[in-house]
Amino acid sequence: MSRSAVAAMTAYTLELREAEIKLNQNESPFDLPREWKERILARLAERPWNLYPDFESIALRAAIAGAYGLTPDNVLVGNGSNELLAAAIGAFVGPGTPVIFARPTFTLYEKLVTIAGGLAVPIEFEPHSGLLPLDEMLSAIAKHKNAVVIVCSPNNPTGGALPAGGLDALLESGAMVLFDQAYGDFENAELPPVQHTLVTFRTFSKAWGLAALRVGWCASTAENCREIRKVKLPYSLNVLSAAIAEEALRDPARRDATVAHVIAERERLFAAMRAIPRIEVFPTKANFLTFRTRRPLFEPLVARGILVRDVSSYPRLQGCLRVSIGTVEQNDAFLAALKEIA
Ligand code: PMP
Repeated sequence: MSRSAVAAMTAYTLELREAEIKLNQNESPFDLPREWKERILARLAERPWNLYPDFESIALRAAIAGAYGLTPDNVLVGNGSNELLAAAIGAFVGPGTPVIFARPTFTLYEKLVTIAGGLAVPIEFEPHSGLLPLDEMLSAIAKHKNAVVIVCSPNNPTGGALPAGGLDALLESGAMVLFDQAYGDFENAELPPVQHTLVTFRTFSKAWGLAALRVGWCASTAENCREIRKVKLPYSLNVLSAAIAEEALRDPARRDATVAHVIAERERLFAAMRAIPRIEVFPTKANFLTFRTRRPLFEPLVARGILVRDVSSYPRLQGCLRVSIGTVEQNDAFLAALKEIA
């Protein structure tokens, strides 16, 4: 029998469906070129595979530090940013620690807090303003001693973000802030300066187009990184993924082009969807749009070859779907289907 806290949880789930146009996981619409992959794989074939990765992931941490104006001591890398979120929650949340977060948000946070025995303090908010509920979060921090705050901005799955100055206001409260910037690329967000009450999480899975390889990182003070590293599994990032992420960082123009495409297409889709009367689309700064429909549209979209994410079971998202920004052709197909069936 598992622990009662775990027995009461549901697993992180994803509906496994096949469709020609896959817009359900906020992935980049662009794969890396075949020659690029072959060049790096040829180099990796030279490296012995019988030996463990570098224990400290020095090369990738140094490359990230160089790209973002940090020192390697400020950076930890992991098997997706999910792994680092889990390690950071393990390091900062113990039995009874109040953990404040806006909801609906990425469901993994609440699961990890529950596993750690923390006290989840969800702040429910309506997604239509496109803003996270900063004032309510600040009030909750004032009410709970030694609170940890988890904030995802832009937020998955609503697309909204913190109001201007929001992160500073959270930091001024003195609470420990775990700041998930998985979608920060899509508002060209700066990485906030390193400080001892802040851990920022980033990923190669979205704008960098490396979701298959599972590479994420976090930035904080050297001391916080040391603490998180105590919880993280050793050698979790494999040699191939680390080297490919390092190579990707050498070409930031590729990331920039993906981001520019996503932003332009997001704004085009947003305007087009706003013009459809039976759809309510929420403001977004991420690489996806979340929208409410009058009729259930998940299956009718699948029937037209388009897979989106059904987010209707999240609190405050009844009747809502989430669609990732794809290629121009994919987005056109989605829009045409939506106009037909909405
Ligand atoms: N944070 C948020 C908010 C996400 O939506 C995701 C991806 N679903 C992640 C983190 C995880 O990213 P990674 O692939 O780096 O584990």
